[in-house]
Amino acid sequence: MRSMNANGQSVDTIRYHLSWPQPHTHYFHVQIELSRLGSGDLEVRMPAWRPGRYIIQNYARYIIGFEAYSKSGEFLPFRKTDKNTWKIEAGDEQDVVVRYQAYANVLDAGESYLDEHEAYVNPISVLMYVPGEEFTPSIISFSNPQEWKVATALDYDESKQGYPASDYHELVDSPFIISPDLRTYGFDHGGATYELVFQGEGHYNPDEVLHEVQRIVHVQTEMMGVTPFKRYVFLYHLLPDRFGHGVEHKNSTCIVIGPADYSDAGFRRRFLDLTAHELFHVWSVERIRPLAIYHPDYSMEAYTTTMWVYEGITCYYTDLTLARAGLFTEEEYLQELADTIQRYDRAPGRKVRSVALTSWDSWIGPAAAPGTWHSFYTSGNVLGLLLDFEIRHRTANEKSLDDVFRYLYAEYAEKNRGVPEEGFQQALEHVADSRFDAFFRAYVYGVEDIVYNDYLRHAGLLLTADPASGVFRIERMAEQSELQEEMYSHWLRCKIEV
Ligand SMILES: [Zn+2]
Repeated sequence: MRSMNANGQSVDTIRYHLSWPQPHTHYFHVQIELSRLGSGDLEVRMPAWRPGRYIIQNYARYIIGFEAYSKSGEFLPFRKTDKNTWKIEAGDEQDVVVRYQAYANVLDAGESYLDEHEAYVNPISVLMYVPGEEFTPSIISFSNPQEWKVATALDYDESKQGYPASDYHELVDSPFIISPDLRTYGFDHGGATYELVFQGEGHYNPDEVLHEVQRIVHVQTEMMGVTPFKRYVFLYHLLPDRFGHGVEHKNSTCIVIGPADYSDAGFRRRFLDLTAHELFHVWSVERIRPLAIYHPDYSMEAYTTTMWVYEGITCYYTDLTLARAGLFTEEEYLQELADTIQRYDRAPGRKVRSVALTSWDSWIGPAAAPGTWHSFYTSGNVLGLLLDFEIRHRTANEKSLDDVFRYLYAEYAEKNRGVPEEGFQQALEHVADSRFDAFFRAYVYGVEDIVYNDYLRHAGLLLTADPASGVFRIERMAEQSELQEEMYSHWLRCKIEV
């Protein structure tokens, strides 16, 4: 059954097809086919930004050679009505075909790249949508050379000769790597299959990598108590040069990293760090999702004050995951925390702009005036630690920040609702059964200095600065109460049996 949308259109399925007759030019040839009830002008639009990076990117700048046709091949006139939008004078034509070329020459985790060796597609940077039809089912297909394999979280449907997505939101949340050189490894855990797909050259022992990634999966699924997919795909793109970038999706992640040598401690650390970070986003941001970006309008900014929660606290859980999984020693983890606190404490911008405002202003960030900016990745990491310890303290080790995320999952993700701006504070207060107004006033909406040891002490930890170098350290106090001992061990508790 189909019904008209507000623009007087009604589109069944939108079919996207990508080909690359001259891959060395880095141009995807895109064809969009749709059939509609209704008549009149038809708009198509490129996104201006992508979830995961809250700045305007204007992907329309990659588009050339736009054309529109009727099903019989008759040319349909069009004009651009704003920087992102093409309006086609489609008249009574019900079947419309759009063709254009999309330049793809950025090799990071969020954009698209094409050459003779691979087609790397982040659909958001190459595929247009029909405004008002974001919830219309779509199918994507490719004219790839036969020996090129396809890796993606979407399932191929033989009868439809393509990869169906329930709507445009799911389509742009589903990256692809298509290449003759893909190497795929996998394991099952908790009723789900995890695939690790590698594109590019590197030195690594697949068994070792699988084992360590499985530990990360184990810690996070154990903490959240739910595995919300049947199949999850890590798309690792290995580069010869130093690089590190990851982007989260609901059932997959793109990680671009190099130079790939797993015997190098620094590389291994960055690899595990990105892996744990993007996997935690499966819950935080992909399913526990701020209302502002729940089903966003990709043509304009989507404002929220809470990115310090979804990115910053995800950083907190990244490091904590590695500690709980035994991939960090306790000493390494405590030093990592001390370094993070020092980075936040020394950021001059933290006295000028609140944590909430760095999230809101991410669309214009970083601010131009020197010393007025700081990262919500770092501030949220620190605030996550303080809130975790504060909840544990207030509830005599009965509850923790882990409970807050489980509560948010049950309350929002499972009910298919976006989290409102005040939802995170309400969840904290629900779990701790007490108010957090003063904390938020001082450290989230305000720019007050934090007395870190007021929180660290709850778990018997002490932050000090080396008198000579000024470098921050965190140590366990010599004298510990039973409650402090218990909090420390609950916090780092490790139930690894994989
Ligand atoms: Zn992130």
